Amino acid sequence: MSVPPCRFSIAESDAPIELLPRDLSAWQQGNCGVDYVHRLDSGHKGPELVIQALTHGNEICGANALLWLLENDIRPTKGAMTLIFANVEAYKTFDPQRPFASRCLNVDMNRVWHASQLTKPDNHEALRAIELLPFIENADSLLDLHSTTFAVTPMLIYPDNACNRQFADRLAFPFPHLLYDLGSYHTGMLISEHERHSDGGFSLVAECGQHFAKATSQQALATTLRFLQLHGMLKDTIELPDWGYSPDSDAGHYRIDRVLKAESEKFRFVELFKGFEQFDKGELIAIDDQELIAAPFDNCALIMPARVPIAGEEVVTLAERIETSVDKN
Ligand SMILES: [Zn+2]
Repeated sequence: MSVPPCRFSIAESDAPIELLPRDLSAWQQGNCGVDYVHRLDSGHKGPELVIQALTHGNEICGANALLWLLENDIRPTKGAMTLIFANVEAYKTFDPQRPFASRCLNVDMNRVWHASQLTKPDNHEALRAIELLPFIENADSLLDLHSTTFAVTPMLIYPDNACNRQFADRLAFPFPHLLYDLGSYHTGMLISEHERHSDGGFSLVAECGQHFAKATSQQALATTLRFLQLHGMLKDTIELPDWGYSPDSDAGHYRIDRVLKAESEKFRFVELFKGFEQFDKGELIAIDDQELIAAPFDNCALIMPARVPIAGEEVVTLAERIETSVDKN
């Protein structure tokens, strides 16, 4: 059987670049002694929230959502919310000719939230994480805003427990939910670190759409405002924007099973996958050198396949679809 040539190219984006980074210098000086961190306190008792943008420097939508809150002087009606622009140094390196390269300066900032990294930081992202850690540990609930390489449906990702799941269902997020068991997914994810410190709060990643699509910013803001509203912290007069994308047949709950790595530089998917393609057990999904890689279980969905498979690196997450639609309750 012939293997189709890899059609990925790092220089090639599958969507036009509709969003460009904005100048954040006006927001560099925060009010907590840490650059690009703003804590807005209602002065009333209530939840302590963190909303973080730019965990990945090229994921512009989250920064736009936080800018909207700041520029419109949105204050919580109770409790406090801390807005964090995380990896601004990477964000500032954006180059439209290489739009994926500003994801990080040294390492993936969504893998450094772990004692093994934070006790002996030797890279920009871990050093920045150490500055931000007190805010994360102090937060009752955390929303971490991201976007995706391909123009796939938006999704929520969270540790699988009743608390997170009920909250996520109440958000009425009409797109896929990806659940994972704490400790079984990537080591060093921000929401996992938060989940370990949280007592009855919520820890969510929102993947808001393609990195450079305008609709992604709307999605990030729609999610952020609903997150605040569900905590009872948003003024009634603030209008909630539409979701930005139309729901599609991918909506439902998926349980993350495993992450595949490319063992060789010959790793190839059998087709150019974008994500959420589903397979029955035994169906071929990739070839790694001579090894055939088949779906290991039924209802096996491919989540965020890599644009450019690289030997030794993660290439795709496999998740089992466990429901056909989001709870409407
Ligand atoms: Zn991301």
